[in-house]
Amino acid sequence: MSNNGIKLGDSSWWTGRNPLNLRYLESNFPCRAACPVNTNAGGYVSLIAQGHYREAYLLARAPNPLASVCGRVCAHPCEAACRRGQIDQPIAIRAMKRFVNERYGVESGLSFEEILQAAERPRPPAANSGRVAIIGSGPAGLACAHDLALMGHRVTIFDAAPVAGGMMRLGVPEYRLPRELLDREIDFIRFLGVEFRLGVEIGRDITFADLRAGHDAVFLATGCRKGKTLKLPGVDKKGVLTAVDFLANLNLGVPLDIGQEVVVVGGGNVAFDVARSARRFGGTSQPDEEHHNLAADAAIAASRLLRRRVTLISLESRDEMPADPEEIEEGSHEGIRIIHRRGPHAILGNDRVTALETIDVARVFDENGKFAPQFIPGSQKQIECDTVILAIGQVADLSFLGADHGIEITPQQTIAVDAATLATSLPGVYAGGDVAFGPRIIIAAVADGRRAAKSIDAFLTGRTDPPEEYLIRVFPTFGYSHPFARGDYETIPRRRVPILPIERRQPREEVELCLSEQEARAEGSRCLHCWVNTIFDSSSIQGSECIQCGGCADVCPEACIDLVALSRIVAVSDEAMALLPNGAPAEVFQSDNGAVLLKDETACIRCGLCARRCPTGVITMQAFYRKPEAPMMYLAEATL
Ligand SMILES: Cc1cc2nc3c(=O)[nH]c(=O)nc-3n(C[C@H](O)[C@H](O)[C@H](O)COP(=O)(O)OP(=O)(O)OC[C@H]3O[C@@H](n4cnc5c(N)ncnc54)[C@H](O)[C@@H]3O)c2cc1C
Ligand code: SF4
Ligand code: SF4
Repeated sequence: MSNNGIKLGDSSWWTGRNPLNLRYLESNFPCRAACPVNTNAGGYVSLIAQGHYREAYLLARAPNPLASVCGRVCAHPCEAACRRGQIDQPIAIRAMKRFVNERYGVESGLSFEEILQAAERPRPPAANSGRVAIIGSGPAGLACAHDLALMGHRVTIFDAAPVAGGMMRLGVPEYRLPRELLDREIDFIRFLGVEFRLGVEIGRDITFADLRAGHDAVFLATGCRKGKTLKLPGVDKKGVLTAVDFLANLNLGVPLDIGQEVVVVGGGNVAFDVARSARRFGGTSQPDEEHHNLAADAAIAASRLLRRRVTLISLESRDEMPADPEEIEEGSHEGIRIIHRRGPHAILGNDRVTALETIDVARVFDENGKFAPQFIPGSQKQIECDTVILAIGQVADLSFLGADHGIEITPQQTIAVDAATLATSLPGVYAGGDVAFGPRIIIAAVADGRRAAKSIDAFLTGRTDPPEEYLIRVFPTFGYSHPFARGDYETIPRRRVPILPIERRQPREEVELCLSEQEARAEGSRCLHCWVNTIFDSSSIQGSECIQCGGCADVCPEACIDLVALSRIVAVSDEAMALLPNGAPAEVFQSDNGAVLLKDETACIRCGLCARRCPTGVITMQAFYRKPEAPMMYLAEATL
């Protein structure tokens, strides 16, 4: 890409003079762009590779009030986007976050004062604080409270549950997210001055109208806590329950009657949470006697530990299943029988369920990839069971708003919000997380909470943010060093995150473990440093000094540069045209003379060989930082 003729010296400050290129630069750093709170994942994994763990933690924690939770159970959209995945496998970003959290996060034993230093201050404390009510203590509510408290507002979180944490507490099983860690994360938010009123259900104990009248602003973060059910014959029988009801009772320690033969309906991660939990816990939500014996005789007891027969039926084939591959693998290891391409047809039995009648699936998606399952008539079969758990999704329960609430509701029965501010149609009332967008993931809810906090602060004080400042570092031609030069760079495989051996798994014990220091550093060294860009210097006014020698294309080890005659360029999208240097005439693409350098960004490993080879110095390697992160990024780049 071109720098549009902006004169950039080493460490020049640049404050978004060209928003189009700014957007390009941000999107060209895929792990950050994919993270809803824009975590600088590439930066912190590279800092870990350098042994700078404290700095790595600062970078990981700054934008994320629930960094420790995310180190354990984040759905890690960054990994799906990671450019290293184009070469072999993405960086194990979540496991790397856990690695630094264990040293400096809430679970590390450091004091809350020390952790406070790592938290990003969204805005300085306001002169006049407001009273804000937050309904729901899930990730959206907690993140909003965290930021509002740092901005000096008086915040109270109301939650119907007797414990805080939302689905992180009521849904996610303990063997994935230790409860002491979640408690510490929430205690830190308490330490910031947030008041929690637990066991208080809005709509039952306090009306929404009264709550609103008593506060300057309200944030609705009530999630999706109602399990979806199916219109099946027999669905009302004893022994049929939804995933969220099952998990919430289990996680709250409420005794459950789930029997010995359980069938779980669903193919997503929640279905696996249910199936793996059902396998761990029997007819009650307490571990059985045998489970307590594990310490005495692990091998013998473990063979009985996971002994409830649990079958999971999914409409999808294994490849189509929405669940993470690790969940499917671990579920299978723990003895869950998985039957693909089977849907529920009827629930049989008298008072209590005795079997699930299933029907074979012909296809799950239509020609356009839309979910539209079709079944094979006459293919009914029965699976004997005493419990059926439906894990087919969750919906919001908006009854707490009462009648005549005046808030616009979407056709999907979520709360309608302004996409930028999260304001609802009622002044001073904001909404975010699952109740506004339907079931998503923790980090998306955290991002909403943070966004809502800024909007609420703006509503109460009139303050807004100054534009983000950026720093560009231009490397001298031979001053750029990259892990590629080490030689083994491309061949280092992704580190496998260690897991607890099956014979040592206790019902509540965490299954995934932490990378060792050696493994974490090796994993970090696989990062491509996507915040460094190859900049091809040209401008519509001065032209370019490129002599079209093709040296860059020749030297590139990934063959990602191509020198293409203009006459071969046949179509240009509007979006690409918009990225042209300011003032470049569109007719340039109709010319018969000349050539363009095309670069496949997905393949570039940032080795810098093209910049070294270029005889006219037209290509430079340039790092692009958000200003507050620049000092740490300098450290992350000191790779050799
Ligand atoms: C079983 C399960 C496992 C999951 N695992 C993961 C995972 O591993 N990784 C991941 O990224 N995401 C996961 N998710 C998704 C994630 O948990 C949610 O997207 C996220 O918690 C939504 O956050 P939220 O703040 O919007 O709402 P929630 O977390 O749902 O919190 C809403 C809170 O509001 C309270 N509330 C509701 N109504 C009222 C009322 N009227 N009065 C007072 N309080 C009320 C509820 O009690 C609840 O505590 C999982 C979801 C489930 C169901
Ligand atoms: S290679 Fe590194 S910088 Fe690039 S997307 Fe992956 S983690 Fe981020
Ligand atoms: S930095 Fe390396 S991989 Fe990227 S374009 Fe230049 S030579 Fe090719």
